[in-house]
Amino acid sequence: MNQTKSSWNLKLLLSSSLVIGGMAIAPFDLTPNGFESSRVEAASTYTTTANLNLRLSAATWSPVLLTIPNGATVKYVSKYGSWYKVSYGGKTGYVASQYVKVSTPSTMTPSSASYYKTTVNLNLRLTAASWSSVLTTIPNGATVKYVSRYGSWYKVSYNGKTGYVASQYLTATGAPTTTTSTTSYQTTVNLNMRLTAASWSTVLLTIPNGATVKYVSKYGSWYKVSYGGKTGYVASQYLKPATTTTPTTSTGSGRTIVIDAGHGGNDPGAVYGSLYEKVIAFDIAARLASTLSNTYGYNARMTRSNDVYLSLAQRVELTKSYKGSAFVSIHNNSSTNTSYHGHEVLVPTGESYTTNPYISASRSLGAAINRELGVRIPTIRNRGVKYQNVYVVGKNSVPSTLVEYGFISNSNDRSHLTSTTYRQRMADATASGIHQFMSTYK
Ligand SMILES: [Zn+2]
Repeated sequence: MNQTKSSWNLKLLLSSSLVIGGMAIAPFDLTPNGFESSRVEAASTYTTTANLNLRLSAATWSPVLLTIPNGATVKYVSKYGSWYKVSYGGKTGYVASQYVKVSTPSTMTPSSASYYKTTVNLNLRLTAASWSSVLTTIPNGATVKYVSRYGSWYKVSYNGKTGYVASQYLTATGAPTTTTSTTSYQTTVNLNMRLTAASWSTVLLTIPNGATVKYVSKYGSWYKVSYGGKTGYVASQYLKPATTTTPTTSTGSGRTIVIDAGHGGNDPGAVYGSLYEKVIAFDIAARLASTLSNTYGYNARMTRSNDVYLSLAQRVELTKSYKGSAFVSIHNNSSTNTSYHGHEVLVPTGESYTTNPYISASRSLGAAINRELGVRIPTIRNRGVKYQNVYVVGKNSVPSTLVEYGFISNSNDRSHLTSTTYRQRMADATASGIHQFMSTYK
């Protein structure tokens, strides 16, 4: 996991990298409070969300006319792909449109802007990147629910799935006429969830009596529902509408979990051949964030949503600014001794970070995750919970742990770490451990 200590000023780093790169990818959502305007419809003025280069033409290599300060109001002239032609300070030029937002919030109706219609068959992806796994392809003309914005990507929900789509293929629309998509149901018996809508179909899992499931769609007398990280079909006669009082203590209740994909950018972490720890960690982290929000109702935030470098201090800072309730850092191990193998969880020792009041809670969090990993992935050795002085778990002011999912240098572990099935299982085990901890932690 290779830690380095650095105390860069987050704001300085962020704004300067944007100015230098012009199109630099933001390491996290620049408008975390949910920018819900219909930005596809041209407004007359926009506000910059970063120090932003005004360029001669619509290209990152084009000469910079001037740098517009963060928060400034610019006049919109026209659109050019992902660039806007704007006027500011007596000059007219081009800016990257993902760093501006509509500056007249009073005229917007958030409810109408929170739904978009696709203008092509559009891939819903796991993360905000064109190389990211495709969760599903949304048909042209379908209505999606807007969740948040990540640069030129929108996080949206469609048909029970949440992921990222390229925002240029969306157009604002009203709320859909069918209102059932977010409904929850409660089971009235121990109920089999099946692969398809038929009583002879494979059982994916048995949902306990009284559990709350998320409704996805209807199929004759069967409902497609999500539960425990799985989606499948149940006989609808054994469901009743969920009562509103049940979920408050047992679900995420919208509490924020900060997921930290280790390394990134010019720091690859452990390397084995063409395998980079930063890439594997990011994929597990993205799956974990998705399970935490879709299955358990947490507000999952990632410290980095792309392949960028963040210092350890920045990761701790982000936990604070996201108002996280817990922090989990995702890593892989490596050793020159290729026989070393297994997963382990690192928690604070209590010696180096004596002012941290969350040491005991961090250990409980780590133990819960370790237990779930051990039970759900028995084919990787369980090395247990280790007390270690790690910056991100010692310095964070919330319960924090660092998970090493296995050794990239060991062939057995590597076969798991390179399998998307096992990455998902690692993510689901971790989510379950986090949820077990959070259910007892107030
Ligand atoms: Zn690492």
